[in-house]
Amino acid sequence: MEKQRMPVLFVGHGSPMNAIEDNVYSRAWQQAGKALPRPEAILSVSAHWYTAGTRVNDSARPNMIYDMYGFPDELYRVVYPAVGSPELAHSARSLISRDVQVDNTWGLDHGTWSVLHRMYPGADIPVFQLSIDSHAPASVHYSIGQEIGALRDQGVMILGSGNVVHNLSLISWSMQDGFPWAQEFDAFIKDKIINRDFPPVIDYSSAGDSARLAFFTPEHYFPLLYVLGAAREDHQLRVFNDSITMGSVSMTSYVFE
Ligand code: ZN
Repeated sequence: MEKQRMPVLFVGHGSPMNAIEDNVYSRAWQQAGKALPRPEAILSVSAHWYTAGTRVNDSARPNMIYDMYGFPDELYRVVYPAVGSPELAHSARSLISRDVQVDNTWGLDHGTWSVLHRMYPGADIPVFQLSIDSHAPASVHYSIGQEIGALRDQGVMILGSGNVVHNLSLISWSMQDGFPWAQEFDAFIKDKIINRDFPPVIDYSSAGDSARLAFFTPEHYFPLLYVLGAAREDHQLRVFNDSITMGSVSMTSYVFE
């Protein structure tokens, strides 16, 4: 029987507190979990697994990783006991043309569980992570996305979790919207994505000056490129949580379904 092709989505995760706070962002994640077709497994590419070389976790029971510091105790008590998917992790590995190392020292980090805790609170869908190679250029992340796109026909939802604008050194905690350069970069990327013009998104320096401030390291941006790689022409695009918070963190999220 042919399986339903699963959507692919990029979620701007922002503060880890979104895992436990009821706010516009976390409510939209809850909504997305209810509205999207239920996948058989989720492959997550999180900004927080940034490694030398590409790695995949093939553990049947991935660890919870509490990779955030200085937050209330309640956040460290969140448990997301989803199982892994060794079989699909191996499928992902075989679809990727470059060398992929199996690495079970990591697990589900807060880029993954903060979002999924709201989207699929039952934790009853297997989840496995693919890392982001810190040495690879943007184009490689996009091509890996193209390669793993085939998993969507095997019931796998591909989740990229990061932030289009993510500059913590310029953050302004009291600001509810974004600095002009943050808005400019986010709008530039959104416009290109809506028009399915992905080359300037891959070569994000094409945005001009705003690209130099949007982030100083690209780990929160790169998950977006996996999602664009895995998206297909006939997908409908929906943009949600379309806003910037704290001056320099874009929450803008994209779902291709
Ligand atoms: Zn993050």
